[in-house]
Amino acid sequence: MSLKIYLVSRPCFDIDVFLSFLYDQETSWTRSTNITAPEEIVETAGRVCYMSFGKNQSPKTNAEYIQHLIQMEHESVLEHVNWSFLLTGVSRAFTHQLVRHRVGFAFSQLSQQYHDEKDAEFIEPSQLKEFPNAQAAWQRAVKEVKESYNEILKSLEEFETKVGIGMQKRESRRAIHSIARSILPNATETKIFVTANARALRHFLKIRGSIPGDQEMRQVSAELLKYLKVEAPSIFCDFDTNLLPDGSPVIVQVDMADTSTSK
Ligand SMILES: Cc1cc2nc3c(=O)[nH]c(=O)nc-3n(C[C@H](O)[C@H](O)[C@H](O)COP(=O)(O)OP(=O)(O)OC[C@H]3O[C@@H](n4cnc5c(N)ncnc54)[C@H](O)[C@@H]3O)c2cc1C
Repeated sequence: MSLKIYLVSRPCFDIDVFLSFLYDQETSWTRSTNITAPEEIVETAGRVCYMSFGKNQSPKTNAEYIQHLIQMEHESVLEHVNWSFLLTGVSRAFTHQLVRHRVGFAFSQLSQQYHDEKDAEFIEPSQLKEFPNAQAAWQRAVKEVKESYNEILKSLEEFETKVGIGMQKRESRRAIHSIARSILPNATETKIFVTANARALRHFLKIRGSIPGDQEMRQVSAELLKYLKVEAPSIFCDFDTNLLPDGSPVIVQVDMADTSTSK
């Protein structure tokens, strides 16, 4: 099974409501053209801080405005825009690292206590292809673990009458799965619903997307960046994807001053 990312929700800007605010404030706004909703939300959030509308509006384009906010580290404005991604074909090792991100993220992950993992798949590190002996050992190990998992589940069929006396069925199932899952490896495939704001995503890409020794993390970061570059190019314009000598992606961050901001 390979990595697949679904973008399931994105920011929506209600321009009519915002224009009614400007009308109430007896001011106006020169909008940039060809920009996305998240870019517009970030710009307007920034402008509200200074009420830089009407005669107070600088000639900056939306892209220039956002990049100026980021350069000034006025980054709380980036927290107004969130995306939800559903990630499949990722390993538990990857998600264990992902969920360490405490700020600006929300997670909902497949439970190994409620979900039966008897048909679990395992995420094979792509570099193993170059090492047939290691790959064979890896494949043998996950096959054995799956067989053992199923054997443990089967052997625990009498759990309710022996140990879980008086437990509700749901709780005894949870207990059985908890025992069996304790042998599942980091490579076990999982699914995770992730919501994050633009500031948190920038932080994630910066610190996680560039680690040479973490191929899966770089792969996911690069796939997320592909979406984000379409969703809000100005907010992620200083991130780029290069390739390492083995052809795998790595995220690089360039100086905002070096990015093309003419939009
Ligand atoms: C190369 C690398 C190696 C790592 N190795 C290990 C390891 O061996 N063991 C391990 O346990 N973890 C390890 N981590 C995880 C790391 O310590 C972080 O838990 C994880 O990357 C989340 O980063 P964060 O705290 O910056 O993000 P978030 O939790 O999203 O926080 C974002 C930012 O908010 C601020 N912040 C959040 N919480 C606090 C707080 N309580 N107090 C002050 N400021 C706060 C910080 O500025 C932080 O950068 C590693 C991470 C990397 C990138």
